[in-house]
Amino acid sequence: MHKKYNKNNIFFKIINGEIPCDKVLETKHSLAFKDINPRAKIHILLIPKNPYLNLNDFISSADKLEKLDIFNAISEVVSLYNLEESGYRLLTNVGKDGHQEVQHLHFHILGGQPLGSFIKKLEIN
Ligand code: 5GP
Repeated sequence: MHKKYNKNNIFFKIINGEIPCDKVLETKHSLAFKDINPRAKIHILLIPKNPYLNLNDFISSADKLEKLDIFNAISEVVSLYNLEESGYRLLTNVGKDGHQEVQHLHFHILGGQPLGSFIKKLEIN
């Protein structure tokens, strides 16, 4: 486990059933559930069940089956919500600059409406 991974995070508690979630999909290695504060008509969070801090940690430490599983789960969520045609956005925030609030890897799957340009233009110093 990554030395910075803290089991006090909310997604670890969801995986362990300590906190409920509105589950949409569960596979061997992944769990998808509705975001509590949806930013679009469809806003699903997809997480690996094993404790990974962020995408870098997952890429370097997860095994091939877990990696395959999470990609298959993305595809299943997209099918469940019929997003192939209309489109969607897949997003993962990493670290401080990425504004990652929950310190357990998660992918946001957003859709169900036009999402606009992907990020507001930032001031570059
Ligand atoms: P981040 O900013 O880390 O990329 O996104 C964290 C996401 O987790 C946010 O969109 C937030 O609404 C969601 N979230 C935080 N706490 C909970 C919770 O207890 N349950 C669910 N379903 N989502 C949560």
